[in-house]
Amino acid sequence: MSDTIAAIATGMGSSGIGIIRISGPCALSIADKIFNPSVTKRKPSKMISYTAALGHIIYDGRLYDESICLVMKAPHSYTTEDIVEFDCHGGIVVLKEILDLIIQMGARPAEPGEFTKRAFLNGRIDMSQAESVMDLIHSKNEMAAAASIKQVTGELRDIITTMRTEILYNIAYIESVLDDPENYTFDNFIPELKSTVDKLLTTVNKLIESSTSGRIITEGIRTVILGRPNAGKSSVLNMLLGVERAIVTDIAGTTRDTLEESVNIDGITLNIVDTAGIRDTEDVVERIGVDRAIANISDADLILFVVDGSTTLDANDHKIIDAIKGKKVITLVNKKDLGIIVDNMLISSEIKTEIIEISAKNGIGKDKLHNLLKDMFYNNSLNYNDQIYITNMRHKALLYKTSASLTAVCESIDNHMSEDLFTIDLMAAYESLGKIIGEELEDDLVNKIFAEFCMGK
Ligand code: GDP
Repeated sequence: MSDTIAAIATGMGSSGIGIIRISGPCALSIADKIFNPSVTKRKPSKMISYTAALGHIIYDGRLYDESICLVMKAPHSYTTEDIVEFDCHGGIVVLKEILDLIIQMGARPAEPGEFTKRAFLNGRIDMSQAESVMDLIHSKNEMAAAASIKQVTGELRDIITTMRTEILYNIAYIESVLDDPENYTFDNFIPELKSTVDKLLTTVNKLIESSTSGRIITEGIRTVILGRPNAGKSSVLNMLLGVERAIVTDIAGTTRDTLEESVNIDGITLNIVDTAGIRDTEDVVERIGVDRAIANISDADLILFVVDGSTTLDANDHKIIDAIKGKKVITLVNKKDLGIIVDNMLISSEIKTEIIEISAKNGIGKDKLHNLLKDMFYNNSLNYNDQIYITNMRHKALLYKTSASLTAVCESIDNHMSEDLFTIDLMAAYESLGKIIGEELEDDLVNKIFAEFCMGK
């Protein structure tokens, strides 16, 4: 890692300001060659760390841009190496030319995520923090950003590190007794070990459980709109989107294909799949939609069941009711403007559901639906202030492994197995947890994780 890397750190479009970043042992000397401070006359290498200077990027008589140079000296920087950042004008041509110049001066173009990789390899952050940097950048809503920033600051790392310390202590103790039975004893140790492992299991399983909410926060609520043909599914979708996006017609079954849309309601993301509706059909094209609708139910976090309130329930409605039993359902009794005939009680006797009467066509009931969604989301399952949410599938898989290993320890204890067996599973748990924070990770996996990062981060 002795080379110096450089990249454009800001988005690749025209903007007021674009930032070029250089990190590594030659960052300051390269900056000295191309940056002419206009006021202080102090070259970047002579600047005090965490100060900035106005000047010109100029080389071989050619003026590239007016720029602000910011210097962060090792080890107090993002990568722990010397870093120089140039705030330039945000035109992409200018930025590319300056980057080319920096590379001509001896830097190498950074690979995606390489700055963060250096921060990780140099021990400034752990892998869970590095990964959440990316999650933060890609956050789709405020909740996702809040969940990510907690992990950027190292909250998950702290929980994992505490658990590992505890596991390691117990492994060491067991080894000590086995090595030196004269001075160490298993007396009273086993029940203590059992209660420690139980506690660890509770923490690990809680983290695993949090991943459902974690996924909902980061990816959005997988929402399926179901209803018989002409109940008003497309109209409901349009109402939520606030624009005429789906095709609305009077002919039954016109929403043939599935159509995915994302809606953001006060920080909650709904990923809505509008389907062709469930019904028996001879039409092949139609059936593709119907099959998909059925397939979608099992994956859905939320079902919006649209009922035509101006008529009674028909066979299709009952078929849907049968299919969505046990799911989280909001029933939207639609076409309120035509007068409600349908029996709401009949629906609520069949499925557990919230019921709202709406008129998708006129936007009546929209606020009620918004509020209900917010209630379901804020009150039932989530508390953003004091909980860590597992949002990364790699972490989740490793927590499952940890949980399995700890469970095995408990079983060995219950079955009075010999103590040296405990250490094998404890060690496995220790290693799985270590992989979350990036210890015990093979190099190629480290490379793979960082390869998914953005340029310049
Ligand atoms: P889908 O087949 O379930 O997607 O139903 P659409 O959204 O295409 O609507 C079917 C028909 O019902 C269209 O003619 C809509 O204009 C009409 N419709 C939808 N919502 C309402 C409503 O709230 N009131 C009235 N009167 N008509 C509606």
